[in-house]
Amino acid sequence: MAPLDALAYAVDPENGVDAEAAALNARYGDLDAHDAIAIAVESLFPGRIALVSSFSAESAVLLHLLSEVDPNVPVIFLDTGRLFAETLEYRTLLINRLGLTDVRTIMPAPGRVLENDPHRALWMTNPDLCCHIRKTEPLARALNGFDAWLTGRKRFQNALRSRLDLFEADGDRIKINPLAGWSAGDLKSYAAMHDLPEHPLVSKGYPSIGCVPCTSRVKPGEDQRAGRWRGLEKTECGIHTGLESDGSGI
Ligand code: SF4
Repeated sequence: MAPLDALAYAVDPENGVDAEAAALNARYGDLDAHDAIAIAVESLFPGRIALVSSFSAESAVLLHLLSEVDPNVPVIFLDTGRLFAETLEYRTLLINRLGLTDVRTIMPAPGRVLENDPHRALWMTNPDLCCHIRKTEPLARALNGFDAWLTGRKRFQNALRSRLDLFEADGDRIKINPLAGWSAGDLKSYAAMHDLPEHPLVSKGYPSIGCVPCTSRVKPGEDQRAGRWRGLEKTECGIHTGLESDGSGI
């Protein structure tokens, strides 16, 4: 059996998405970020893959890598309705700079917001539900029709991500983490090498950026994400649930 035939057998959906992810890691797990994106976009999931980006502090690198492979791949951007104006401006800046042609801005369902958060204060009383209706539900809708999605999560970001594989099973989809093995220094070096613009809030003390009510400045010496949901137990938004996420690495 030729190698590609063997792979086709291994990734047979009949064997389940877990088996598919394992087979992909065995064959492609050592690819660098560019090549991983290229094989996913061009060979494994052509026309059936999207990138999900928060257009936040660390988003430019993955978006640049995608633009070098194919700037026409759909990019899903979740606008929770509570984002910083600077994030929306940064989205426009990166779209123009990188030539991305299919950035899809996804909003929460108005009825769900009206029903659950009529006074826009749900983040104070039930932030998990707030993230659910503003992030998780819209993303689930946006990913309909795709068999795989690209994220910007890195192993260095927290303990839960420390064993992140390049390919993961995510329900009935494959989730791909091309930057899994990158360090903070790698990201900075890449951004400098390609002269990528920085999110305007980074220089103002926000190394991790989400929604306005749930993001605060980080003091010197604090963890990079100490400003997210400060004072609350919450550290996850639910997008990668089952696993983890603060939403900053998508
Ligand atoms: S990060 Fe805060 S404001 Fe944004 S969706 Fe989650 S709880 Fe709501």
